[in-house]
Amino acid sequence: MKTQNKSQSKSKVPKEGVYPEIIRKNYLGSKKLLNKKAVISGGDSGIGQAVAVHFAREGADVAIIYNESDKDAKETKKLVEKEGRKCTLIKGDVTKKAFRTRCVEKIKKDWRTLDILVNNAGIQFPKNNIENISEDQIQKTFDTNIISMIALTRDFLSLMQKGARIICTTSVTAYRGSDHLIDYSATKGAIATFIRSLAVNIAERGILVNGVAPGPIWTPLVKETFDELSTFGKDNPLKRAGQPSEVAPAYVFLASEDSSFITGEIIHINGGDFVGG
Ligand code: NAD
Repeated sequence: MKTQNKSQSKSKVPKEGVYPEIIRKNYLGSKKLLNKKAVISGGDSGIGQAVAVHFAREGADVAIIYNESDKDAKETKKLVEKEGRKCTLIKGDVTKKAFRTRCVEKIKKDWRTLDILVNNAGIQFPKNNIENISEDQIQKTFDTNIISMIALTRDFLSLMQKGARIICTTSVTAYRGSDHLIDYSATKGAIATFIRSLAVNIAERGILVNGVAPGPIWTPLVKETFDELSTFGKDNPLKRAGQPSEVAPAYVFLASEDSSFITGEIIHINGGDFVGG
């Protein structure tokens, strides 16, 4: 996870153990998403990048929405193309209505319909005290993490048909809270509720809505967000943070026919933290 004022590439993180594994070398694709079309917000980096590469290995073409790092986006495109699939890059800010409209228009023009929408873009700004959380921070965190997610989903629904999937990234913090990510964890709780509400609302259309709630995952800018990394991920039963390669297969499951009788659910990938829901 990252703050949003860094424009440099996140590919190089100079600390041992922080290098993300995007996909396991032995991950065998089995055409679970053959010829599907997927949009992934925040697909240039971290969890979203891993989802893009896994979807491609399973046979899907992807379009990734990202806001800053052309270098990371190009790297993702390269990785997707290495899997023999197409990767469209859409650069812009999901909090802007005009940009969201442009995303939907581009996908409509290129693909006509959309099979899978992964709502994954997110930001966080850790603060130890609520007094240190500015109005601007609250607004930006909610705008990015949940308000634009609801709006983007509403807009993309016009391209989605029976069998389509919506997958949203929430967080373990939605369930157990976080004393240093108060506003962020509130957005993640809102995402969990959005998943459940939308799932029921559009069930009759045959469109399934589910989520993934990662615990601590080594993504390139975890280092930039948190000052102290030596304890990152050490407080769960497995006593370590996870890799993007350990999260992305859940998105494949939720995007594929294997999850055809599941909607309104959230998969917890957090090293064994017991959380309700
Ligand atoms: P990341 O910073 O590597 O990727 C997030 C991406 O979101 C960015 O690269 C950017 O492209 C995109 N983004 C952010 N703001 C945007 C905006 N306004 N417009 C367009 N794109 C925007 O972070 P990550 O760790 O891979 O996080 C991905 C998701 O996983 C987030 O929703 C995050 O809350 C969630 N998550 C991460 C962790 C973790 O430990 N890394 C844990 C739980 C949940």
